[in-house]
Amino acid sequence: MKYCTHCGAEIDDNAVICLNCGCAVNQPRQPLYAYTDDSVSVGLVILSVLIPLFGIIYWAVKSKECPKRSRACGIAGIISWVASIVIAVIIYVSVFSSVYSSVYSYMY
Ligand SMILES: [Zn+2]
Repeated sequence: MKYCTHCGAEIDDNAVICLNCGCAVNQPRQPLYAYTDDSVSVGLVILSVLIPLFGIIYWAVKSKECPKRSRACGIAGIISWVASIVIAVIIYVSVFSSVYSSVYSYMY
């Protein structure tokens, strides 16, 4: 039980207004977000590198809740994504050039 700060009447712990005087009950301000561990998680970063889409989605979803951790995951995901595209292009070009040169040597 707690007491109204205006009239002193007993009020319920969860009451928002006092039933006796109708005044708003002063409640301790709760933080908008409960404290969460915002340290960069190595496991999540590795997961973001393995699954870039996971890192980018995690960044989008958790950017307000734990900004540092989610940014690390998002950046790791983007770097991994770009790196995989670059590697794919290099493989494609090398395969294409080897196929082209073998066809060329076959024709002539
Ligand atoms: Zn009251």
